[in-house]
Amino acid sequence: MKKQIALVGNPNSGKTTLFNLLTGTNQRVGNWPGVTVERKSGNIKKRPHLDLQDLPGIYSLSPYTSEEMVARDYLLTAQPAAILNVVDATNLERNLYLTLQLLEMGIPTVIALNMTDTLKQQGRSIKVDQLSHQLGCPIQSISALKKMGIPQLLSEVERTSTQSSTPYFPQYEKQFEAAIAQVIELLPQTIPTRQQRFYAIKSLEQDPDILHQLNFGETEKADLSEIIMILEKIYSDDIEAIIVNQRYQLIETISSSVQEEIGNGLNISDKVDQIVTNRFLALPIFALVMWLTYFLAIQTVGTIGTDWVNDVLFGQFVPVIIQNLLDTFGIAGWLQSLVLDGIVAGCGAILGFVPQIFVLFFCLGILEDIGYMSRIAFVMDRIFRRFGLSGKSFIPMLIATGCGVPGVMASRTIENEQDRKITIMTATFMPCSAKLPIISLVAGAFFPGNPWIAPSAYFIGMGAIILSGLALKKTKQLGGLASPFIMELPSYHLPQIQTVLRYSSDKAISFIKRAGTIIFVTNIIIWFASSYSWALAPVETNQSILASIGHGFAFFFQPLGFGNWKATIAAITGLLAKETVIASFGILYKLGETSESNRELWTLLQQDYSALSAYSFLIFNLLCAPCFAAIGAIHREMGNAKWTWIAVGFQTGLAYAVSLIIYQLGAVFLYHHQPTIWTGIALILLSAMVYSIVRKPASALPIVTLKNLQKELMNG
Ligand code: GDP
Ligand code: MG
Repeated sequence: MKKQIALVGNPNSGKTTLFNLLTGTNQRVGNWPGVTVERKSGNIKKRPHLDLQDLPGIYSLSPYTSEEMVARDYLLTAQPAAILNVVDATNLERNLYLTLQLLEMGIPTVIALNMTDTLKQQGRSIKVDQLSHQLGCPIQSISALKKMGIPQLLSEVERTSTQSSTPYFPQYEKQFEAAIAQVIELLPQTIPTRQQRFYAIKSLEQDPDILHQLNFGETEKADLSEIIMILEKIYSDDIEAIIVNQRYQLIETISSSVQEEIGNGLNISDKVDQIVTNRFLALPIFALVMWLTYFLAIQTVGTIGTDWVNDVLFGQFVPVIIQNLLDTFGIAGWLQSLVLDGIVAGCGAILGFVPQIFVLFFCLGILEDIGYMSRIAFVMDRIFRRFGLSGKSFIPMLIATGCGVPGVMASRTIENEQDRKITIMTATFMPCSAKLPIISLVAGAFFPGNPWIAPSAYFIGMGAIILSGLALKKTKQLGGLASPFIMELPSYHLPQIQTVLRYSSDKAISFIKRAGTIIFVTNIIIWFASSYSWALAPVETNQSILASIGHGFAFFFQPLGFGNWKATIAAITGLLAKETVIASFGILYKLGETSESNRELWTLLQQDYSALSAYSFLIFNLLCAPCFAAIGAIHREMGNAKWTWIAVGFQTGLAYAVSLIIYQLGAVFLYHHQPTIWTGIALILLSAMVYSIVRKPASALPIVTLKNLQKELMNG
């Protein structure tokens, strides 16, 4: 009869490499029922009676992802003859976290200790016999890549799959073991002896699926909850944390006794990580890194390029050349105005930012490529989860610094529906590449020499995400459990210059493309509406169609400090694309006419706005509803109009409130203006925000407290 061997391991442990090596061409590919997770199986070469089943790469056997569900269901129901657990020897601790859980299942297990070639290169080694003794299962050192140790591994698998000895379980602390023994007593008779330990630990973990499957009676429920209560008292921690700690303590003991290290035990990556992901240092370091990134892009290197584009290219060359061309061909005055005041002024105002965008994404590309960004996601996960938010929200946030559209789409990786909605609603708070010109203009014109203004947009965007996440979590509709997420921390490596260049030039090119398409068209519209009256007669800008519309809406922005019609129009056109905010300024302040440069726009703006109102304008544009393309993405991901409106309303409302608070309180506290009724409104808004963040959650089952979950389960 054919025997099933289950191939299990962390992502990137080398499972696929080993699977291909063992099965060669005898592979069958399909999908696991009900999910889009790929299913691969195949006969082992020269061992046709052994059927190898490749399970999805997982870190844990919790039911948080479809991969984990698939793997766990298979192991529980298909009853494989043996588990072949691939362990990445260079990441022993993380890999053993899964191994311990696999061993709990009571299925005969063989460990393939993979990547031993790399381990050796790193000058490290693992005492395989000791590890095998401590885990109670056979271990074979291999290198799937170098094809080492494979025949020995196969005979071990064959031997193990024919054995039927009672399983050995690595032991946790005595008190915890006692609790497990007690829970085993509560389990239904139908659970086979060798699976009892797994079910008992999962019951302690309050795993909803397992509890559902076990369907405890009232007395058992009460007993279980008492056992949990006692454990929580003994360890003064919640039960989930206790179990995780038990596993890690055991792993710690085991791995410290089996790992032999040359040098002082840590490779360079680990040493760097000790600092970079340190509880206290991680955030200051991150702030510094982002500061430096923006400093290079907006304050220094990027700006040199931008100044050149503005002052030389679009200051001296392009307008003059085009003017000459237009004159040579005797083009009519209105068309000249369209080309120069509309297209050249608008697109010029935007294209000037290409160098800054290039430098920004060059820096971000390097951070991504060397592996720093995954550290930050890891650090953020730790922080987010403390607030009951999913750490997975950080990935969409990171992507949204490029463009909100893929950022919103990246929220698909979040399984929890509520967390996903929250992420969709908040991801576009990050400054995307199109918002960069606004940031750069405000920072340059109003805060020259203050290197914190540009990065502050980044931090305010992130703060808005975290704080509104907290507030939204407290609402009835969006409260719920946050799913933990464990991620890969790849070793640091030198940045690959091609990868980084490709990344940053992709961003710059797509920015230029937008300037040539959507911005181009809106520039023409804005030029037209700013040059003609409703009667279609050519007029001064301040009598134009646009001026009358702008005046009509300006009252709305009065409390935010920029209730001037030009800023109003700029903010409204931002809905089309955030780049048009600056393009509108370029056209409305008529930059195309002469060889006026960016700095002259600065002077003009300084006459119309105070630094405070400009900052308020920046914050409003940073947080308000994104461009139509991103709103479209929000609509696709939300799947209905209602939630799209909620999202857009939330974003715009928040932007309005935050800008109002900044402007009104700033006026009183920084400029020593007399308080007005708006000061009072600002204070009320601020208190309402603080309240919405700190209040008690509205839903019955709000943030992950297992005690709540337990109560829920006990009440049936
Ligand atoms: P999976 O995600 O578990 O399926 O892992 P893969 O089989 O895709 O392997 C992940 C990476 O590790 C690939 O780049 C492999 O080439 C590499 N890899 C796999 N086994 C070994 C090994 O024994 N030594 C080394 N150095 N690399 C390996
Ligand atoms: Mg794979």
